[in-house]
Amino acid sequence: MSNVWSTNVSFSNGELHLSGISATVLAKDFGTPTFFLDEDDFRNRAKTWGSALNGAFGADAGHVYYAGKAFLCVEVARWLAESGIGLDVCTGGELAVAVAAKFPVERIEVHGNNKSVAEINEAVRLGVGTIVADSLFEIERIANAAKAHGKKQRILLRLTPGIEAHTHESIATAHEDVKFGFSIASGSAWDAVLAVREHSEIELRGFHSHIGSQIFSMDAFDTAADRLIAFLARYRDEFKVELPELDLGGGYGISYLESDEALLPEVVLPSLHKAVQAACAKHNLKIPKVSIEPGRAIVGPTMFTLYEVGTTKKVVRESGEARNYISVDGGMSDNIRTSLYGAVYTAIIANRQSAAPTTSSRVVGKHCETGDIVISDIALAVDCVPGDLLAVPATGAYGRSMASNYNHVPRPPVVAVSKGKARVIVRRETEADLLGLDV
Ligand SMILES: *Cc1c(COP(=O)(O)O)cnc(C)c1O
Repeated sequence: MSNVWSTNVSFSNGELHLSGISATVLAKDFGTPTFFLDEDDFRNRAKTWGSALNGAFGADAGHVYYAGKAFLCVEVARWLAESGIGLDVCTGGELAVAVAAKFPVERIEVHGNNKSVAEINEAVRLGVGTIVADSLFEIERIANAAKAHGKKQRILLRLTPGIEAHTHESIATAHEDVKFGFSIASGSAWDAVLAVREHSEIELRGFHSHIGSQIFSMDAFDTAADRLIAFLARYRDEFKVELPELDLGGGYGISYLESDEALLPEVVLPSLHKAVQAACAKHNLKIPKVSIEPGRAIVGPTMFTLYEVGTTKKVVRESGEARNYISVDGGMSDNIRTSLYGAVYTAIIANRQSAAPTTSSRVVGKHCETGDIVISDIALAVDCVPGDLLAVPATGAYGRSMASNYNHVPRPPVVAVSKGKARVIVRRETEADLLGLDV
């Protein structure tokens, strides 16, 4: 099952090692549950996406904006700054992390379907490279902020190209009936273009779409590119000038299970280039600066969560089959994706080899909900016992970033491991942290 683990994970006598450090030592040194982050793999993925964009679109391409919502902390923002790629933030909080990391502001792109006046003001004041406007309200807010700061703000318009991406309903974002963006089909995208042109403080650079997340086929991306480029052509036809930028969003699928085939940068970028080139040729447009926004594809595969098994319980289901419940010391507070949208994961006993036969098992957390499930159904060794360590791979994206304090469980730390050395980059929450909010 090598495709679900980060590059520097290896196994010796059945025990998981990250960069040569065994799961047993990692658990002893940092406790459980903990997110372990393969730093070299992360840095390498960020660089690889960046060079694949330039490989396909040339030195004059746009940016790879890492989608910070997948996972962001100050240290990771520093790695991203060093890697040369950009950063997509969508709240004042994410922007504050970027500022704390001294992330180059011209490589920051600000997203969100309901940016507050204060958030927009701060972004304009800092001088972020791009704001992606999502509503007419925001166009007004951006214009007001730019005027107040005596600046001209570059923006993109987020469009919904009317695409049914094949992924879970909660993470498909570009069909008509969603909260995001200006619909091309309804005419509201064109209204937004006209609204922007009323404001000399705003420089419209082009259009954006993000069709969804955990997508495995390039077809939907190609269709989105085609529709956005048709819209660029409409703009050119009307105003006799070509807009210079196109942002095709993120959403590239990764391997959660061995059977998942990740969309790799060396496949994604040439495919996007082909689609963009064809659509531009059709409309006699110059190829714009193309940007993309992978989040999951960069950070997802680089972390695993290490849990300790606390209890087990055998049940007999109505069908007569047996099921082994394996309770770990975290759950929906550190991984909400399974209960939120039926996400699937695999897991292994990380601290030892087991020669025992496997049985149908369910990995559950310690929270007071039946739906507190990490893995709904997995074949695990029948001899899995309290004290065993369980490692769940590919938890880097939307794991720690969606973590909560449900049941007053402190959120786990993130430990970066590189070249045989492990260090905490986000510390574990304490009960004092939790009590600290009570006034
Ligand atoms: C969530 C999001 C992304 C990143 O999606 P991934 O599936 O993590 O690649 C990119 N752009 C926008 C606008 C998003 O909302």
